[in-house]
Amino acid sequence: MKKDFYEILGITKSATAEEIKKAYRKKAIEFHPDKNPGDKQAEENFKVAAESYEMLSDPQKKAKYDQYGHQAFESGGYGGHPGGMNMDDIFSQFGDIFGSTFGGGFGGFNGGGGQRRVKGSNLRIKVKLTLEEIANGVEKKIKVKRKVQAKGVKYKTCQTCNGQGQVMRVTNTILGRMQSASTCPACGGAGQTIETKPKEADAHGMILEDETVSIKIPAGVVDGMQLKVSNKGNDAPGNGIPGDLIVAIEEIEHQYLKREGENLHLDLYISISEAVLGVSKDIEAINGKVRIKLEEGIQSGKILRLKGKGITNLNGYGSGDLLVHINVWTPKELNKEQKEFFEKNLTNENFTPNPEQSDKSFFEKVKDMFS
Ligand SMILES: [Zn+2]
Repeated sequence: MKKDFYEILGITKSATAEEIKKAYRKKAIEFHPDKNPGDKQAEENFKVAAESYEMLSDPQKKAKYDQYGHQAFESGGYGGHPGGMNMDDIFSQFGDIFGSTFGGGFGGFNGGGGQRRVKGSNLRIKVKLTLEEIANGVEKKIKVKRKVQAKGVKYKTCQTCNGQGQVMRVTNTILGRMQSASTCPACGGAGQTIETKPKEADAHGMILEDETVSIKIPAGVVDGMQLKVSNKGNDAPGNGIPGDLIVAIEEIEHQYLKREGENLHLDLYISISEAVLGVSKDIEAINGKVRIKLEEGIQSGKILRLKGKGITNLNGYGSGDLLVHINVWTPKELNKEQKEFFEKNLTNENFTPNPEQSDKSFFEKVKDMFS
C-alpha cells in the first residue's frame, strides 16, 4: 500500500500551501543525498517526499488526491510521472526550494563515487502534434532558450574544496567527533569557480542562447507523454554536464477522426439510396483516401473495420485499425414524386424492419468492441 502523501510530509489535510512547502523543505533537507551519501533508504524517502510535494503543491492534483486518493493517479496514467520521479526531475522542478544550500540552482549532481559533476537543469517544452504527425512519426525543429557557457569565460579549480565539490565538516557532539560531507559553499558543488567572465554572463558564467533542436518523435505517441532529449537542457558551468530537454506531447484534435488508443474512428454518412444500392466510396483515412465498398442493404450503425489503417504502435508492434461507423442519412425534404414513392411503400414488406441476427444494435456492437 502506498503511504498517504500528508503522512509522508507529516502534515494534516488542513495544511496551507506555505505549511506544505515548509514541511517538504524539512524532509528534503533531512533526506537530501548530499547529507546521506550512499543511503538508499534516505534516497527513497527523498523521492517520496518530492512526489508528495508535487501532488499537494498543485491545487488541481491536490483536489483530485483529496477526493480519490492514490487511485486518482494510478489508472489512466498520463500526465503523471511514468516510472516515478528521478533525481534530476526533483532537482530541476524544486530547485527553488533548496535555494543556494544545494547546488546553487543547478540541476543536480551526477555520478556517485569520485568527483561529482554538476548537471545543468532540465528544460521543459510542449510540442503540439497533429494526428497525422502522430500516426507517422515526425521530426520537429524547435527553438529553445538554453543556458550555455559564455564565450571567454574561464573557470579555475575551486580553492575551498580543491575541485571536489564537497567539503568535509567536523563537528563535536556528545557522541564524539562527527564527520559529514556537504556541498562546497564556494562553488555550489561544481568544483570550479570563475576566473574571468564577460560582462553579460551571469554569476556562473552562463548566458541564454537560442538553439534550434531537432526532435525525432516516434509514431504512436500519446497526449501527455514526455520524451527526453539528452543533454539539450541547460549547460552546467565548468566541466559540468548539460541537463536534458523534456518534451511534453500535446495532441491537436482531428477534424473528423477520433482516436482511441491505436484505433481511429470515423463517422461516415451515406444516403438512403447508397445504402439500398450498395456503392463504392472514397473515405479520408489518416494517410489519404481509401476506397471502401458498401454492401447492398447496409444498415445504419454497421461498423467497417479497416485493418492497419489506424495509428502505428509506439513500440513498433503493427498498427491499429480504422473503424468506419455507417450512418444512413434520412432525407428531410422530398419533392412530390419522392414523397409519393415512400408513401406507396409505407406498409410494403420490403420496407418493414426485419433485423437479422448479424444486424446487431449499436449498443451491442459497442459492447463487443470493448470486450
Ligand atoms: Zn568548491
